[in-house]
Amino acid sequence: MKVIYKTTGDAHEFAPLAVILYYGGCAYGCLYCYGPRTIRRMRKSVENHARLRQDVLRCLDREARRIRGDDSEILVSFSSDPYQPLETRFKTTRQAIRILIDNRLRVMILTKGGMLAARDFDLLESYDRCRFGTSVVFTNQTDASQWEPNAPPIADRIKAIHQAHGRGIKTWVCLEPVIDPDQALELIRELHPVTGHWKVGILNYRKLPNPVNWIKFREDATNLLDSLGADYHLMQSLTETYV
Ligand code: SF4
Repeated sequence: MKVIYKTTGDAHEFAPLAVILYYGGCAYGCLYCYGPRTIRRMRKSVENHARLRQDVLRCLDREARRIRGDDSEILVSFSSDPYQPLETRFKTTRQAIRILIDNRLRVMILTKGGMLAARDFDLLESYDRCRFGTSVVFTNQTDASQWEPNAPPIADRIKAIHQAHGRGIKTWVCLEPVIDPDQALELIRELHPVTGHWKVGILNYRKLPNPVNWIKFREDATNLLDSLGADYHLMQSLTETYV
């Protein structure tokens, strides 16, 4: 079983390598999640089937030793949030981070786990080859609850990114998929002081209930990020949209 794998397609825009620690689904059940499409299950079923990959830490340890000191960032993780409720019980992500750090590998966390993820800041704050990222696309909790029904509240995720920054951990925010352009721009303004890097993208495989002028959003986001002097990457989903 391969735990560290080379990313392709959209995933490659995040990092060249990634690990998946939990599989079979994700408890957060975001309506826009690409995970169920990749494993061809109904969303409800996927939410309830998140589980720990068998033997994952032993395999990760073996693979990490093999690429010890490699300079490629490793995203933790795609398809299943590394700080979903199972993590409270298993602490697999915490142990995985330890393995990656012990092998001087570059760690890039992406989660909606908020303060559950903050539990591991003690590991990240003393390690220069890591970044902590949160995924947030709404400022309005009612919208977030509709689209990300089981995920921790926005305030919790924002608190985590503030804490990470305050503890000297490099931070980034995944503003993808943008659903409401105004809320996305508001997030950029609000979180810019504590965000080291932005990734901005949109849904390109599903129509939104209300049509959005994505070309205008792309211009607005670019102008705002440039005016703030922010470091950012516009995802292909956004740069290649013509509507
Ligand atoms: S947190 Fe990420 S992996 Fe989990 S359901 Fe939401 S989009 Fe999918």
